[in-house]
Amino acid sequence: MTVIIDGKTLADEIVQNVAQEVSAFKLKNKVTPGLAVVLVGGDPASGVYVRNKIKRTEQAGFRSIAHYLPTATTQQQLDELIDQLNQDNSIHGILVQLPLPAHLSESRVIEAISPAKDVDGFHPENVGKLVTGQQALVPCTPLGCMIMLKRHIADLSGKHAVVIGRSNIVGKPIANLLLQSDCTVTVVHSRTQNIEEICRSADILVAAVGQPLMIKENWIKPGAVVIDVGINQTSSAGKRKLVGDVDYDAVFSKVSAITPVPGGVGPMTIACLMQNTLTAAQHQLN
Ligand code: NDP
Repeated sequence: MTVIIDGKTLADEIVQNVAQEVSAFKLKNKVTPGLAVVLVGGDPASGVYVRNKIKRTEQAGFRSIAHYLPTATTQQQLDELIDQLNQDNSIHGILVQLPLPAHLSESRVIEAISPAKDVDGFHPENVGKLVTGQQALVPCTPLGCMIMLKRHIADLSGKHAVVIGRSNIVGKPIANLLLQSDCTVTVVHSRTQNIEEICRSADILVAAVGQPLMIKENWIKPGAVVIDVGINQTSSAGKRKLVGDVDYDAVFSKVSAITPVPGGVGPMTIACLMQNTLTAAQHQLN
């Protein structure tokens, strides 16, 4: 019988655990760990993500500091804010919501954040540590995917994992984490030939593409575990709906386990942000 990997329940569990550790942290250090969230511009989707992150941050017992900046913010103004947050000892994590307006440089902002406060795990220092197997702040979505996989598969060693997508924030870090767990990893992308055939050999299939319902039943090895990272807005009969990159209904009876969209990877991403904020605070206070 196919298992639905319930990201929402697992995320609630993680946030509860983090909240307990935050309480202990406050008692021990007499400090409330702080997470600063920066949003530039009025993109509605980013606004929703930021509100959800702030809600979870407060549920977990952190201090949440939001900076809402206008679209016209200059690179220098943003750099100055990041610098100020880097210097502020009451701030333990800094998150700048991406994407930024086109006139601002994402890579410059990512590199400006102190690696110790980089709760998104995007700074090149953290990326380098991840790739070389050192302790690092790991990007939240990939971390969430690994927690879900490990809950479902006791031993990942030797499994063939295929990651569809090679972005810096999802595909590449997931591939590195799977490699660290001794999977044999194949990363496929828009230029890959025979993509369906490669996916059919996957014991673990991670889809991080951004193409609604792209992965069909004939791409799947019977019994595979599927992690669907994709979040795509579609509409049918005038109703808006969120779907993943995987054709969930079509593959359901063929897989051994699958994450739903919504309710799979999405909630885990925010839960892992809480985990990373705690980790960052613990390292800074030690
Ligand atoms: P990107 O657009 O940065 O990367 C998409 C990747 O998919 C690229 O590597 C691209 O290949 C590849 N790709 C695109 N089309 C095809 C195709 N037809 N065949 C094979 N490969 C293809 O997206 P992200 O990595 O940022 O996000 C991926 C998805 O995950 C999106 O739906 C996004 O909304 C979702 N997401 C969900 C999160 C969550 O919390 N659940 C968090 C972050 C993202 P190439 O490199 O060759 O262009």
